[in-house]
Amino acid sequence: MGAWCFADHIGPAAVTKEHGLDIGPHPHTGLQTVTYLVSGEALHRDSLGSEQLISAGQVNLMSAGLGVSHSEEATGRYEGDLHGIQLWIAQPDATRHSPSSFEHHAQLPRISIEHSLATILIGEFHGVRSPARHDTPLVGVELAIKKRLLLSLRTDFEYALIVLDGALACDGVDLAPGQLGYLGTGNDEIALDAYEPTRAMLLGGVPFESDVMIWWNFVARTRSEIDQAFESWHKDDGRFGNVSSHLERISAPTPYWREARGA
Ligand code: MN
Repeated sequence: MGAWCFADHIGPAAVTKEHGLDIGPHPHTGLQTVTYLVSGEALHRDSLGSEQLISAGQVNLMSAGLGVSHSEEATGRYEGDLHGIQLWIAQPDATRHSPSSFEHHAQLPRISIEHSLATILIGEFHGVRSPARHDTPLVGVELAIKKRLLLSLRTDFEYALIVLDGALACDGVDLAPGQLGYLGTGNDEIALDAYEPTRAMLLGGVPFESDVMIWWNFVARTRSEIDQAFESWHKDDGRFGNVSSHLERISAPTPYWREARGA
């Protein structure tokens, strides 16, 4: 949907002070990670030197550009439910070879629409703008829906909905956690009917400038670019920096096309 290219529903799961996401240092290129929690806390560390606690209702936004690495860890202080989502945004040619950066947004704009609440993670929605960086026209909104909700959309954006908890009907089609409802372009509004109090992510954007190739943690355009990123991480040549973490560095699996030629 626009530049949105991947979604990973986090939990819900019980975490302890010592064990949470427990994802050791690993690299990214060509994408932004948008981490958003609806309950709990997690800790982000990256090769820029960022060490950032994220709590429910906040966003961590990491722009990889040419290369960055990070870990996602237990906090050492929080135990309880952890629930959220990590979304990836493909970076356009204009920024995908640029230096990496990291932003934390503790306060996000929220608006009431009818009896529901919209939290604007990124982009602009119903006239309200998030401060988060975006490199192409797009929007990401968390919706806490009580009953029926009518939303105004942009006809030039393609949209999708992901339900985090609860269940709803989107223009008459049922959606539950684990599914992504693709709405396409050309919609100026949608009707959402929640069967119970429901949280959903609305993602949208102008159709992306090119096809993207996603392999492991890399977003690129060609196998050759993936090969270069794989080799840089494998050789630890400095492109992805270093993360100060007690967790083990994650090895890249060998791309299947390299295995086929015995590389
Ligand atoms: Mn990651």
